[in-house]
Amino acid sequence: MNEPFLSAIPILEALESNGFEAYFVGGSVRDYLLDRKIDDVDIATSATPQEVKKIFSQTVDIGIEHGTILVLFDGIGYEVTTFRAESDYRDYRRPETVHFIRSLTKDLERRDFTMNALAMDKKGRIIDLFNGIQAINDQLIETVGDAKERFHEDALRMMRAVRFVSQLEFSLHMSTKLAISENAYLLKHIAIERILAEFTKLIRGSNKKQALTLLFDCQIIDYLPGFKNHTDKLKQCLELDVNELSENQTWLLILALIDVNEPMNFLREWRMPSKQMKYIVKALSVLKERYQSSWTVASLFYATKEIAIDAEVVYKTMNKQSIYMIQETIENEFSIMPIKTREEIVISGEDLINWFNRPGGPWIKDLLQQIELAILNKEIANDRDEIKGWSRTCNLPFANDC
Ligand code: ATP
Ligand code: MG
Repeated sequence: MNEPFLSAIPILEALESNGFEAYFVGGSVRDYLLDRKIDDVDIATSATPQEVKKIFSQTVDIGIEHGTILVLFDGIGYEVTTFRAESDYRDYRRPETVHFIRSLTKDLERRDFTMNALAMDKKGRIIDLFNGIQAINDQLIETVGDAKERFHEDALRMMRAVRFVSQLEFSLHMSTKLAISENAYLLKHIAIERILAEFTKLIRGSNKKQALTLLFDCQIIDYLPGFKNHTDKLKQCLELDVNELSENQTWLLILALIDVNEPMNFLREWRMPSKQMKYIVKALSVLKERYQSSWTVASLFYATKEIAIDAEVVYKTMNKQSIYMIQETIENEFSIMPIKTREEIVISGEDLINWFNRPGGPWIKDLLQQIELAILNKEIANDRDEIKGWSRTCNLPFANDC
């Protein structure tokens, strides 16, 4: 075993010495077997949340109604969840209430895919009741039990299956794929926030081309906000080299392919965080500019470095050109710019008012912009005297009076 499991072993030991069962479970065990990076481990136990709280001195109730307690140990937080059965599935969604149970088997049985239904004890022995290891070796995603039934219980599992294709570079088992095709329509019952969380993991994954193909093949695409009436345009992304794109670059590509009129409204439908939404909308307008003309120092500056890189990567991807060295090239362009932001200009609007002895007005903004451009184009240095002299030669509304 390796970290972060090793540091968590005392938690399992404490639960066991109090007469309970405790195991590592779920994605962390799967990722351990796959030799993938593990961020945090999930622990499952036969102890009820109240029993867990009695054993450990420092705990936080982070999801007590679902049986999850955060145990703080040696400065690290561990999610400890009571074995549970989920019944009472209503409206094709995860149930509101869960039943705490004492059986590991039942807890593993309610999990979505065989690869995710593994447990590991403190000695590193794997409990594999549903042939999860075989599925991992075969790189296959297969539901625990009947796929149709499992998707009717919680339709989000269909999105999860496809995002695992992207994340793990696995394939869907035939019966699981068929059941997704036949039940994709159930996704209309699922909250957009949960769909977005899975879609985000999908487009962050390394095999998104395959996963996006499945979204089309299994008709999931019709149940993703805003995609339904644009599937033909969107399908073009399957011809492109999308696996290298980042999350924001993929959104940018999607919006550019669909050619959305109101990108902000489109992303709002997805309930995207507003900061990310604004970034993508600005990047889209920069990408559109890029289609009109090639970069200048000024257009790079106004775009900002990150957006310029994202827009250029998507531009090249859409034109089936290599994205090699784009980041380095743009970073280099920025490193030799005389100013990186507007704030670096050594004069202010106040200075202009004093120099020209005129009241403020729209002319200030205009002149500041001209100055900025002149500095960027290296016509003048970012120097007070030079800017002052140059400003006097500018075409101003009151030029004749100066
Ligand atoms: P990731 O690496 O993205 O965190 P994960 O497999 O750990 O993947 P989580 O969403 O963190 O996914 O869920 C932890 C575990 O809980 C899963 O491995 C699975 O066993 C179970 N699980 C999560 N969501 C569901 C669901 N909708 N239905 C059934 N089991 C689920
Ligand atoms: Mg996880």
